[in-house]
Amino acid sequence: MTVMVPSRTPAHSITPGRQALDSALHQLAQAAEGLGLDEGLHAMLATPRRSLTVSVPVRREDGRMDVVQGYRVQHNITRGPAKGGIRFHPGTDLDEVTALAMWMTWKCALVGIPYGGAKGGVAVDPGSLTTRELERLTRRYVNEILPLIGPEKDIPAPDVGTDEQTMAWIMDTYSVNAGYSVPGVVTGKPTTLGGSLGRAGATSRGVQIATMAALDRSGDGITVAVQGFGKVGALAAQYLADAGCRVVAVSDVTGAIHSAAGLDVAAVRAWVAETGGVRGYREADALGLDELLELDVDVLVPAALEGVLTAANAPRVKARLIVEGANGPTTPEADAILADAGTVIVPDILANAGGVIVSYLEWVQNMQAYSWSAGEVDVRLRDLMEGAFGEVKSLAADRGVTLRDAAHLIGVGRVADAHRMRGLYP
Ligand code: NAD
Repeated sequence: MTVMVPSRTPAHSITPGRQALDSALHQLAQAAEGLGLDEGLHAMLATPRRSLTVSVPVRREDGRMDVVQGYRVQHNITRGPAKGGIRFHPGTDLDEVTALAMWMTWKCALVGIPYGGAKGGVAVDPGSLTTRELERLTRRYVNEILPLIGPEKDIPAPDVGTDEQTMAWIMDTYSVNAGYSVPGVVTGKPTTLGGSLGRAGATSRGVQIATMAALDRSGDGITVAVQGFGKVGALAAQYLADAGCRVVAVSDVTGAIHSAAGLDVAAVRAWVAETGGVRGYREADALGLDELLELDVDVLVPAALEGVLTAANAPRVKARLIVEGANGPTTPEADAILADAGTVIVPDILANAGGVIVSYLEWVQNMQAYSWSAGEVDVRLRDLMEGAFGEVKSLAADRGVTLRDAAHLIGVGRVADAHRMRGLYP
């Protein structure tokens, strides 16, 4: 039996996707050792159950046809249907999607929702396509992965570069093929199609809940920098400001902005809605993208992509608390440097679990053809987030390990238990 292990190639000479997969495999190996898993079970958990690579032809407005690569990976389906977002990003590849699917498996187990982990992706820059091209691409990609998805099998959701419009097209494409409406095939849909109240801000709300739980005090006087002012980052900044924190810097692909007095986050969101990015916002100074990560703030929220905190910049990170809105923003090398420096990291599989928690609540509502109020959804989200945070914190204290290690011990441990109870067929 061979266990899939991190590659031995130096980090700078491998793709970002392979780096993400190496991080995920490293974290799994640590947990497998801590849990005393046998090699066979470790090998099961290190390899995805199903990986599908598809070629997606897309007709451009000028009549040309482009072909892009798409992926859907179901990492584990032992605890329930596969669940995970779909990413449209030019750098997406099978390794990255596999890593993201693996993290989804541990995340769902950690917060106690009955799902396995999946992820999908298309290697495309959505900003380079017209809306009609994007719709054609989405529908064709969904057709290619149709055998895998379904409300009882595998339920996609938004991720980087996709949104509720993408989910509406997916729901429609699947429903047309089925011959009837199947709202439960995706989550993060518009509310008019069965989307849940509270889903759009759920990941960010979870980031806020996790941050406040980690701080264990009011937000007054707490300074925050947020990398990535997209779906997760912009609302995380807003909710942290609402909790009394001073958000002094935010960034997106267009640039980074800084105001020592604190940004008016609602005004920055309005600026982004108008201009397409934070760059040029007048009530703040421009800042280098990398500088934001090293600012002297209390809390850093990476909410963009993987592998942004590395051995190269970790020694210069001054924040005492890092709350991972993004998946996989910290490499294992940076993790070790930051842990030695006493920096507390609320890991991705805990910090950004609010999204999949409310996705689960959306799916439950769809399966019952019933909907809950925003208040009911928020109470359930808070209960699950705070419950998981408490479990992770107390295991970390008991075992003398980081919050990331504790979160993995719980998540991986639950999936391993499910495998043992089900046994191996045949
Ligand atoms: P998004 O596409 O809405 O936003 C991503 C943002 O990051 C954009 O503003 C983009 O400009 C910015 N960005 C990209 N590269 C950057 C860089 N080098 N420096 C600064 N900013 C940069 O995506 P999202 O849905 O907000 O996802 C962000 C992260 O959160 C991803 O890691 C994703 O997997 C994770 N996540 C998302 C959800 C969700 O519900 N959407 C749930 C859990 C985790």
